[in-house]
Amino acid sequence: MVCNNTLFQTKAYYNVSLFYFKYMETKLKIALQKSGRLYEDSVKILKECGIEFQNGMNKLLNEAVNFPMQVLFLRDDDIPQYVEDNIADIGIVGENIVYESNKNVELVEKLGFGKCRLSIAVPRNENYTDAHYLAGKRIATTYPFLLQQFLDTNQIKAEIHIISGSVEITPGLGLANAICDLVSSGSTLFSNGLKETEVILNSEAALISNKNLTEEKKLLLKKLLFRIQAVKKAKKSKYILLNAPDDKLDIICNLIPGMKSPTILPLGIPGWSSLHSVVQEDDFWNIIESLKDNGAEGILVTPIEKLVL
Ligand code: ATP
Ligand code: ZN
Repeated sequence: MVCNNTLFQTKAYYNVSLFYFKYMETKLKIALQKSGRLYEDSVKILKECGIEFQNGMNKLLNEAVNFPMQVLFLRDDDIPQYVEDNIADIGIVGENIVYESNKNVELVEKLGFGKCRLSIAVPRNENYTDAHYLAGKRIATTYPFLLQQFLDTNQIKAEIHIISGSVEITPGLGLANAICDLVSSGSTLFSNGLKETEVILNSEAALISNKNLTEEKKLLLKKLLFRIQAVKKAKKSKYILLNAPDDKLDIICNLIPGMKSPTILPLGIPGWSSLHSVVQEDDFWNIIESLKDNGAEGILVTPIEKLVL
């Protein structure tokens, strides 16, 4: 009897440990850009999600210490392929690379950094009226797939000259009549005597995922996504504190309704209250002006680190 019981307990222990180890072994493998424009912000967003790992300059694969995650550092162009092939489960990469590579991956969440656009540019003195200007022209690019899509949509026949870098110098060298390249401020185009004439794609860094994740990995991705969304919401919001005359409380509460309603506390001076709330960055300056117009004083605005609704 004692013996059977022990056997049962041992078996149960074995099964529980098997489940535990299976779960514990599951780690989400994320691919980040090894160095370049997305590297810093990609590492930063994971750190803001409370995930600690070494920054990988010397190691290809890094274990996170407080989240079941492994971090792979790669060239950005390789990330969609690695995610499609399940070498990495998820990755952070520009939408431009995702759409150009045309890999079978899922775009899970846009991340709000690495913003740029894929544009057509032509020499500044050219008389560009519309996309048909490009008919019969030679266009240099590192984005042949997206450029071809744009030309097909507009029923334009042009020659695509694929080049691996420094696209913006090709018209000046007489190698191309136009270019299709990434632009953010436009200063590179300007200094090469070019003007931007069409935007083919607006792009930002995005979290992508393999389409056939196991249930355990889906659960880990859900946890990560929850944290990322809290960080993103916090960045768009500000915490606001102010003093307001009691006879204006209704108007002021309507201006800063917060998540449910503002917190209102009476001040030491009769007829005045203190209000605490959350405002969205987009409306921020308009709201501040209206608050002042309605008698608000001592307005204090601070950043929010995380925001869970
Ligand atoms: P890698 O060595 O990883 O291949 P890369 O040189 O191809 O790097 P970066 O120049 O570091 O790439 O750009 C990475 C990503 O940053 C781009 O794919 C794009 O999504 C984004 N980006 C944002 N602004 C710009 C810009 N002005 N020019 C180029 N990329 C930009
Ligand atoms: Zn690249």
